[in-house]
Amino acid sequence: MSDQIEAVEDFRLRARAWLAENMPKLDPDKEYNTNRVADREWVEHRELQKKLFAGGFAGLCFPKEYGGQGLTPAHQAAFTEESLPYEMPLRLNIPSLGICSGMLLDMGSEEQKQKYLRGAISGEIILCQFLSEPSGGSDLAGLLTRAQRDGDTYVINGQKTWSTFAYAADYATCLVRTDWDAPKHRGLSMIIVPVHDAATHLNRVRMVDGSDEFCEEFFTDLVVPAENLVGTENDGWTVGQRQLFYERQAVGGGSPYVSGRAPSRGNAAGLSIESLAREVGKDQDPAVRELVGWTHAQDVVNHQLIKRITVGMASGEYPAMASSMMRLAHAEIPQAKVDVMFEIAGDAAVTSLPEGDGYLRSVGVAVLMRQGASLGGGSSEMSRNMISERVLMMPREYAADRDVPFREVRRGR
Ligand SMILES: Cc1cc2nc3c(=O)[nH]c(=O)nc-3n(C[C@H](O)[C@H](O)[C@H](O)COP(=O)(O)OP(=O)(O)OC[C@H]3O[C@@H](n4cnc5c(N)ncnc54)[C@H](O)[C@@H]3O)c2cc1C
Repeated sequence: MSDQIEAVEDFRLRARAWLAENMPKLDPDKEYNTNRVADREWVEHRELQKKLFAGGFAGLCFPKEYGGQGLTPAHQAAFTEESLPYEMPLRLNIPSLGICSGMLLDMGSEEQKQKYLRGAISGEIILCQFLSEPSGGSDLAGLLTRAQRDGDTYVINGQKTWSTFAYAADYATCLVRTDWDAPKHRGLSMIIVPVHDAATHLNRVRMVDGSDEFCEEFFTDLVVPAENLVGTENDGWTVGQRQLFYERQAVGGGSPYVSGRAPSRGNAAGLSIESLAREVGKDQDPAVRELVGWTHAQDVVNHQLIKRITVGMASGEYPAMASSMMRLAHAEIPQAKVDVMFEIAGDAAVTSLPEGDGYLRSVGVAVLMRQGASLGGGSSEMSRNMISERVLMMPREYAADRDVPFREVRRGR
């Protein structure tokens, strides 16, 4: 068989026919992409991913030797467009495929790629991230969870928090401290850990919008094989940086490893503002029409920004840290949109919250959760820091703990 890559338009036609034959059509009576994930969705999405894998349409941009298809982002974009009328395993996109799998492809050992990367692409395994800790997520290098080498194993103690979808995952990429005498960035290691283990106590965290996608985990002598170390011991910061690159790229909307796109209904961030204006009888109001036009312009800008940065990073014109610009826009633009929607919906968005459903309730929920966009995947302030220091090469922020052995760094209790 020839190794030549199939032309995108031929691939599109083949994908269109396969999708029609194999994937369930979106049901107009079903709500998709809601803030609460039903347990059955995880079973369904694993099955849908297995279907894509069996049909040769999973992990399109991952290499063939790890279960992918070795295709290009243009093939992935065509597939996503064709997949819009169908149910897709969207819950597996972030963090499992777009973030953790991307990192494993670049930094994992051959055995790790064969097991975890292939497992994620084939729908057998779901991955999540154990990075943030209660002492702070922005200062990631200041983390306190420790791993002690013991023969062929590591023994892990500590706590992680804000782990998206951990309860539904099988394994996590866990950043831990392995050297307390090295400065904070140089004593870390990335280790793949099982999520469900007798030595790990996992709680689901209920949010103000009723969702419970976040988890917190407490490790008491969790033992994992030393072969689960990703990269080299004490070089976890390099591995973590790669993972964070994929996080910014995926959260910012520019990942080649994310497949399909969420239908907008039930998701206020993707909700049509025109429909909302009509719903509340303000579609003829000139001020509201101006706001609607403004949000559309923001969408166009965002789309072009993602395109420009993705192309710039691929060509080497921009450094990998330029992904922080996409990440920042992904927080600022949806937040501005939520504010516009709230202005249009007015009190109705609040009064419909407890019982109501449909657009107005979605707006109310989006207002409650608007701040999440500027924290997930690293905060907006940290994105600005990275853009100024690592893209524009402005002077670095002062850090009292740089080059100090971590054991000696002063910490709050
Ligand atoms: C939707 C969502 C999904 C997430 N998923 C995961 C996940 O799967 N796994 C995981 O490990 N974590 C996850 N997180 C946690 C996320 O990474 C952290 O919330 C984030 O890194 C910020 O950390 P923090 O919440 O501890 O806030 P802090 O670090 O305490 O920051 C508080 C505030 O101080 C500001 N600040 C802190 N330091 C500086 C500085 N040097 N300069 C300027 N401002 C600063 C921050 O910008 C922020 O506004 C998720 C969070 C969200 C909202």
